[in-house]
Amino acid sequence: MEFELTRKQKELKDALHNLGRYVIRPMSLQMDREHRVPDAFLKQFVAMASSVRSDQDVGAALGDAEEIKREPPSREKPSFGNRTALVGAEELAWGDASLLLCLPGAGLGGPPVKATGTPAQKKKWFGMLADADKRGDLAWGAYGLTEPGAGSDVSGIRTTCRKDGDHWVINGRKCYITNGARAAWVVIFATVDPALGRAGQRAFVVEKGTPGFTVGKIEEKLGLRASETAELVLDDCRVPAENLLGGDAAYEGKSTGFQTAMKTFDSTRPLVASMALGIGRAAYEYVCDAVKERYMLSRPVPRYHAIVERLAKMHRRLEAARMLTWKAAWMADTGQPNAKEASMSKAAAAQAAVRACFEAIEILGADGTIQREDALLEKWFRDIKVYDIFEGTGQIQRVVISKRILSDLKSF
Ligand SMILES: Cc1cc2nc3c(=O)[nH]c(=O)nc-3n(C[C@H](O)[C@H](O)[C@H](O)COP(=O)(O)OP(=O)(O)OC[C@H]3O[C@@H](n4cnc5c(N)ncnc54)[C@H](O)[C@@H]3O)c2cc1C
Repeated sequence: MEFELTRKQKELKDALHNLGRYVIRPMSLQMDREHRVPDAFLKQFVAMASSVRSDQDVGAALGDAEEIKREPPSREKPSFGNRTALVGAEELAWGDASLLLCLPGAGLGGPPVKATGTPAQKKKWFGMLADADKRGDLAWGAYGLTEPGAGSDVSGIRTTCRKDGDHWVINGRKCYITNGARAAWVVIFATVDPALGRAGQRAFVVEKGTPGFTVGKIEEKLGLRASETAELVLDDCRVPAENLLGGDAAYEGKSTGFQTAMKTFDSTRPLVASMALGIGRAAYEYVCDAVKERYMLSRPVPRYHAIVERLAKMHRRLEAARMLTWKAAWMADTGQPNAKEASMSKAAAAQAAVRACFEAIEILGADGTIQREDALLEKWFRDIKVYDIFEGTGQIQRVVISKRILSDLKSF
């Protein structure tokens, strides 16, 4: 595995870093207080970052319309897409994680369409977003798995689907869906019979405006407040049969619905891990600067030594977690299964970043808790916690890791 970034990746990192420092961060607190990223600012930002978004490698990793024309990566012909996407995600989250989640595109809805969709389905739903982008409109996809009562326990979903002629009728409620209210389409997971567990699950694309598909409440949250988190209601929602991802045949005798949900996590967990690292690094750099400024003259004092030791530990944990995320991305870029590594990266990065934000505040004392335009530490402290919850909590990552270890002791 190559540790050095390619020239293109370095350029991407620098470009996003500058956008983060000079364009995003000055807006960060305002967006947080208003619980939204203004559309005009988002459009402006998207235009500024257009060279990054049109990067073919990033598109391949996140699942764009062009992706369907490409060969899957292999050890012989690796892609750089997943690693590039991680580098970009870390840098954007360093700027502002909420803005990153608000960026238009397929978002978490992309990987399930990419994993299970037929070529025609990929063309249709990625194409819909690409067309909107060409018109200069903002358009999103979303991922609707979680329900009240079924978060970690994916096999416990209760949203039902029933075939009725050339339609499926879906009934249920989805919660905490990122960009759920604004999305042009949402991948909705439902079951033909909850008693069948994983085997009963199906994945549909439900378009905005479909009769019976409405938005419930928009949540007010501890952190990531500018990112939209919505409840979605499906009440006798009639979806055309062709919206079943992969078509009927894909589910015969297989747990394709459940696997689609899980495959999504293999590609998105390292990405989410990198976002956590972006926030953790922001806190770490902030406290390093403050320590340099405030404690320069007190070096012989034991307190200074205690503090720099904590900084060294923060740095080590963040760097170690980054190596795990890069390994998970390298495996995806070389076509190797990476479920265990994806979970390890998510567990390690979220924990390292939560601790970095927590320790940064401890080191700075009361000053670390103050909200100012130029002091975003208290915001990062609020933003980071959810990274240890969504895309599978820390505990769930450990369940996934231990299952993999025990099913294949040799790989450990
Ligand atoms: C801001 C935000 C955005 C989100 N975006 C999306 C989205 O776009 N799409 C979507 O589908 N979902 C989304 N979610 C939902 C998120 O994925 C779930 O919250 C998460 O999976 C945890 O589920 P839960 O909240 O129901 O907690 P629960 O599953 O009820 O877990 C509660 C606690 O029990 C622990 N626990 C549960 N099972 C086990 C076990 N087997 N072993 C050990 N401990 C266990 C958990 O670790 C946790 O500590 C989002 C959530 C948030 C907060």
